[in-house]
Amino acid sequence: MYWAGLMKRRLIQLAATILTNPHAANFLSGKLYRGDLKNFCAPGLNCWSCPAATLSCPIGALQAVGGAGGKFGFYAAGFIILIGLLLGRAVCGFLCPFGLIQELLNKIPSPKFFLPRRLTYVKYFLLIMFVLILPVATKFGEPTFCEYICPAGTLEAGLPLIATHEEFHRVLGKLFALKIFILFAVIIGCVLIHRFFCRVMCPLGAIYGLLNKYSFYQLTCAADKCINCGRCKKICPLDLDPTKELKSAECVRCKRCVEACPVKAID
Ligand code: SF4
Ligand code: SF4
Repeated sequence: MYWAGLMKRRLIQLAATILTNPHAANFLSGKLYRGDLKNFCAPGLNCWSCPAATLSCPIGALQAVGGAGGKFGFYAAGFIILIGLLLGRAVCGFLCPFGLIQELLNKIPSPKFFLPRRLTYVKYFLLIMFVLILPVATKFGEPTFCEYICPAGTLEAGLPLIATHEEFHRVLGKLFALKIFILFAVIIGCVLIHRFFCRVMCPLGAIYGLLNKYSFYQLTCAADKCINCGRCKKICPLDLDPTKELKSAECVRCKRCVEACPVKAID
């Protein structure tokens, strides 16, 4: 049951990644898809400049509109809020390509570490400062989170484009070195700590997390069925107690606790 559930989720994660990134051949040429579908956002974090991507990244769209003239991106914000109200962080658990990459990185054999809860607040600072305030306030046209921080962009777009475009080599400088450093740190973080980026840095996860409590899709634990065996708490990769914290902003709705519960108390 547990492995069947894990396999099912993995297949959904893979399908979502392939459906939102069908132009994998573009990695060889370094071309970008620029058709009409780029007017729409993917539900998860998926860089606009990734050669394989068909859709836009909602966090990139939110900043790009702001950078294009000091305006707020109501379309992108509305899309994120709508998806968040439907699914909450189930997007992180099932539909986000960068979530899948992080889970695979965590499979690399190494010591695994517990994440102090206070570090999960960093992502709200990054959301407010680098996604909401700076792109609108500076009016430099800079999507600041994408430009200075986003490791998904560096991995999915920066590195493939630099590998295929010699003309980009001369612009490599301190900023690119910073991005590579952040990517490297995030990769190490994800190997050692389950979904390190989602929990500490992801502004999209921060918004979906705030909506977890109110979303249409919910997980619940029936107190009258629970026998307090503790299996769900032991298996939760995000160190939550599913008997009390299923509405937590940190729960990515991976449903491992659902599958681990011997009396089907979580549904
Ligand atoms: S509480 Fe359950 S669904 Fe949420 S992250 Fe933990 S195991 Fe996954
Ligand atoms: S696994 Fe099920 S029965 Fe055991 S503590 Fe969790 S909810 Fe209760």
